[in-house]
Amino acid sequence: MKFLCVDCDRQMTFEERRLPGDGTLAAAFRCPQCGRVVAMLTNPMETQLVASLGVQIGGRTIPAQPLEMVRGMVAGGKEDAFDDGKRETGNVTWSADAQERLARVPGFVRGMVKKIYTDYAKERGIAEVTTAVMDAARAELGLEGM
Ligand SMILES: [Zn+2]
Repeated sequence: MKFLCVDCDRQMTFEERRLPGDGTLAAAFRCPQCGRVVAMLTNPMETQLVASLGVQIGGRTIPAQPLEMVRGMVAGGKEDAFDDGKRETGNVTWSADAQERLARVPGFVRGMVKKIYTDYAKERGIAEVTTAVMDAARAELGLEGM
């Protein structure tokens, strides 16, 4: 995973990472041009999500293809960056009001949020994501604000 400084269109360099052991991860990235720093804090589930994407924070696993995908998402807010086709969404559909609620999620994380809810539904054999399913998933997974 990389961060781009939108103003400078430069790739930010990785500064530090902490893995306290409870699955929480903190990482900071600095723009070499303007010095802007962004930090990322993920909860255990998000860390797992990132790990499951094969992305190693601050390391250099990162095959070219997925990196481009993540960069595209971070830089351009491509909302379906985490949807890599039918395999991801399976047979889970979204009700109209759930789609409406999803539309209110900021574009740059919408794809990831959609994947989290879709995976939640799939794992439980739920065919349709409704706002009630979203509420249940949010409470169960600790996703306040998603
Ligand atoms: Zn910059």
